[in-house]
Amino acid sequence: MRIALVLALSAFAAAPSPADDTLEPLDLRQVKVRGEIGRRLEITLKNNLLVLDAEKDFLPPFREKSRNDGYIGLGKLIDAAVRLAAWSGDEKAIALKKRLVEEVLKAQEADGYPGLMKPQARMWGLWDVHEVQYLAWGLLSDHRFFGEKASLEGARKAADFLLARWGTMPDRWGEKTSVAVDVAVTGLERTMVALHRATGDRRYLDFVLRERALPDWDLGIVIGRRPLIEGHIYAYLSRCLAQLELHRVQPDAKLLAPSRRAVDFLVRSDGLALTGGAGMWEIWTDDQDVRGELGETCATAYQLRVYDSLLRLEGDPRMGDLIERTVHNTLFAAQSPDGRRLRYFAPLEGKREYWPGDTYCCPCNYRRIVSELPQMIYYRTRGGLAVNLYTASEAKTEAGGAALVVRQETDYPNSGKVVLRLDPAAPARFPLRLRVPLWAAGAKAAVNGQAVEGPLRPGTFLEIDREWKVGDAVTLDLPLAWRLVKGRKRQSGRAAVMRGPLVFCLNPSPHKGIANWDGADLSRITLDPASLGEPVPSDAVRPGGLACRVRAWKPSFDLSKRGEMELALTEFPDPDGKATYFRLRDMSAAVDDELLGGGK
Ligand SMILES: [Zn+2]
Repeated sequence: MRIALVLALSAFAAAPSPADDTLEPLDLRQVKVRGEIGRRLEITLKNNLLVLDAEKDFLPPFREKSRNDGYIGLGKLIDAAVRLAAWSGDEKAIALKKRLVEEVLKAQEADGYPGLMKPQARMWGLWDVHEVQYLAWGLLSDHRFFGEKASLEGARKAADFLLARWGTMPDRWGEKTSVAVDVAVTGLERTMVALHRATGDRRYLDFVLRERALPDWDLGIVIGRRPLIEGHIYAYLSRCLAQLELHRVQPDAKLLAPSRRAVDFLVRSDGLALTGGAGMWEIWTDDQDVRGELGETCATAYQLRVYDSLLRLEGDPRMGDLIERTVHNTLFAAQSPDGRRLRYFAPLEGKREYWPGDTYCCPCNYRRIVSELPQMIYYRTRGGLAVNLYTASEAKTEAGGAALVVRQETDYPNSGKVVLRLDPAAPARFPLRLRVPLWAAGAKAAVNGQAVEGPLRPGTFLEIDREWKVGDAVTLDLPLAWRLVKGRKRQSGRAAVMRGPLVFCLNPSPHKGIANWDGADLSRITLDPASLGEPVPSDAVRPGGLACRVRAWKPSFDLSKRGEMELALTEFPDPDGKATYFRLRDMSAAVDDELLGGGK
């Protein structure tokens, strides 16, 4: 057996410019997911997508075509419905996506316009290009997963409408509405690159290269909300993603620069909140204010896509750590535990609000990104298989020239014990790569009970290259201990409680004496690190979830006695969580967030 530890390429170092991905996702339809990620997929499908009222809330404006501005998100809804239908095979989901697609195609005008604006407002009415291009994206998705030719045709007609009208737009038209053009057309370039890749039609590529000058886009990080909202994270990252897609068509190192800059800002310049969220009022921020409008769900979704895209291009396992942290905390906090309600923001301190409806950007982008998670668990790599996310699951792929079924048995993130069962159709030699998270010092692995020698290095992929046969099992043991993570800037002098990828928060309502405290007062509580014991069961967020028992003091002079309160901190997606950072009796017990900084 040859065991090798593979050092990661740094996302920040100059790297070659591959047109081919280092890691490739598996077919969405070949990955079954259980565990909390699987539960989120199920509840997003059954308790959200299948119970929303598309007839009332989504479709009428597209039939009427009488608006001057505004946004619904029908194309995003179609994309999510298509993917969740393809992943689950659920008949109701398939029927829903069919109906949505039929309605869009029926309401599409002869010139290709599929949107909701009256003729005078088309293109420049705020968010029209955004809505129309996502309709093209949703239709293209239907063609990709269900082979529907009419959907591809509808997507092309919608894109052709944009191409034909683009030259007639007034200069700086977005500024009429205080929004920069790059923000007003969020998503446009990625759709055009995808249409080029799906059809081979050069016009879509030329539009991106010439009209949109995508290779030359190199905006810095603009902090703070102001007219033109240029520091818009969702808009920024959607262009990054388009550049990364273009890089796969025609490799060019400069197409990687803004993506690297964005990730660099997040992990080195305090752009990232501990839970994986970013931004205030949708815009880049670096002051670690964790209240209110923190972490737009659209931004979270596009952060995840950029991490995934970089992971595929460069194989840097740090991107996997970022995906995991973000999914289990900020992303899942954007949804009620039963799946029905969704949020626009997921703050770490203070009350969290639900978005009042099912339309608009964040609810639609939430459904989409959840539908993409099955493809962030396993990847094909160098003829073998890489495991990025740990969750009970099963996937079919091929490795070493043989069909392969891989099963992951684990209750992760409750425990760090993962068993991977490999069943190749015939004995086959290939590398199996397992992400060892940066927090997992002391991780161990074994193949068929035989220990893998040498320490496993956190922040790398462990690679096991051998001949695999039916029934082979690999066990991975990731030590899960409590860790107290230091706050930065506005959170300086306080720390948050983590265990593996999970951040814990305080829901005051079950606690006597503090039930009505607000987030600011709760953040003045002092925790006693020495009192942290084993996690206890809690269903506050998910069936079989965990809570953290810890003794604590109310704000006071005297911390010499035993803390008068015993708190049960719950997993960050607790809908009534109001505080995440606390004072510590001994700050030396806290460590830096392992995701920050670049060195290994
Ligand atoms: Zn949004």
